[in-house]
Amino acid sequence: MNKQKNKIYYVIRKIIKKNNSPFWLYKEQDILNQIKKLKKFDVIRFAQKSCSNINILKIMKRNKLKVDAVSSGEIDRAIEAGFSSQNDEIVYTSDIFDKETLSKVVNLNITVNIGSIDMIKQIGKISPGHNIWLRINPKFGHGHSKKTNTGGNNSKHGIWKVKPAIKEIQKYGLKLSGFHVHIGSGSNLHNLKKVCKYLKNKIIKMNKKIKIISSGGGIPTPYKNDEKVFDIKKYSEYWIKTKKSLENYFNQKIILETEPGRFIVSKSGFLISEVRAIKKTDKYKFVIINVGFNDLIRPVMYGSYHKISIINMTKKDAKTKLKKKEDVVISGPLCESGDIFTIHNNGNIITRKLKKIYVGDYLIFHDVGAYGSSMSSNYNSRPLIPEFLLTYDNKIKKIRKKQKILDLIKLEK
Ligand SMILES: *Cc1c(COP(=O)(O)O)cnc(C)c1O
Repeated sequence: MNKQKNKIYYVIRKIIKKNNSPFWLYKEQDILNQIKKLKKFDVIRFAQKSCSNINILKIMKRNKLKVDAVSSGEIDRAIEAGFSSQNDEIVYTSDIFDKETLSKVVNLNITVNIGSIDMIKQIGKISPGHNIWLRINPKFGHGHSKKTNTGGNNSKHGIWKVKPAIKEIQKYGLKLSGFHVHIGSGSNLHNLKKVCKYLKNKIIKMNKKIKIISSGGGIPTPYKNDEKVFDIKKYSEYWIKTKKSLENYFNQKIILETEPGRFIVSKSGFLISEVRAIKKTDKYKFVIINVGFNDLIRPVMYGSYHKISIINMTKKDAKTKLKKKEDVVISGPLCESGDIFTIHNNGNIITRKLKKIYVGDYLIFHDVGAYGSSMSSNYNSRPLIPEFLLTYDNKIKKIRKKQKILDLIKLEK
């Protein structure tokens, strides 16, 4: 464990020396370890919205995963990374088609995981016989935040009433091959288990022979040291049991899919920032770094916790070790007072107890592989920062260049 830890800090220091900060770093070995834990499922489908760099997608492809795409751009990324548009290698999941995406999935013959009856009508009219799945809203949902709960009355996602959907599918002669449920991102075993029962009963009640069932994503990963690790073995067993009982009921083989994003990539990601200023108000000590919520939005968006560690660059380690920890507020450079990384989901500031920090030190955010870089924006005209990969055989690869501000301005000329 400690050796692993030292290795990553060694790599981070090496990249800092050559490239400056800020940057993202992913550790391929962590991704491979997580993939192994899902081997009981027939198909692992990576939810690429969690981390969509094509070099990360290539890792998935090399390891025989399939991929989920939720936009036209994500279809393009998947194809660029080497996924085929055939054999369900890419499945497009959404609740709408914009016109561009509709013609793309028709032209490329990509399976669509349908979330609204309007989608059925729109694709039925121009592509009869198209292969589809139905994403069902199971009338309950659960995620780590209200904003990532994707089931129940408050969710726009999925088909609420299945019967009228099936009617439309028959009307247009679409080929229904799969049922899919995704209740939310960052859920828990109790709620995820309920999906098994729901889907099984629903499929039996509809008496529809189906080739594929997808358990969706939502498998949580720990962010705090004292958080329980998800019982992936139990989760797999519930689903295998669900699959087997459906196979027995219909007397035919069924393919069981899982569709995680966070579970596969969260732990593999690090965000490296530099402390550029420290200031005090009467109440708080603010440590201001060179990344903002335009880079990592999870704390501001959901009140998410990310472990933060320090690389001390001022050779004061020996001295600071003796010193007590301090309560600090970690904040970004954006022109907005809500640009805080230690923040409650109600918007209140939280302090973090950390070893003494100096200007010039580096702060590392942990577990940012999922919904980190992929949720970044250009707010405050800040270009996207570079991404690096530590490969399984310990090579450091730059997998994304820093965006150029001139490229952004060009679009406006
Ligand atoms: C976001 C999403 C996922 C992945 O959720 P995680 O919590 O990252 O596992 C899977 N399926 C669909 C349809 C999604 O929208």
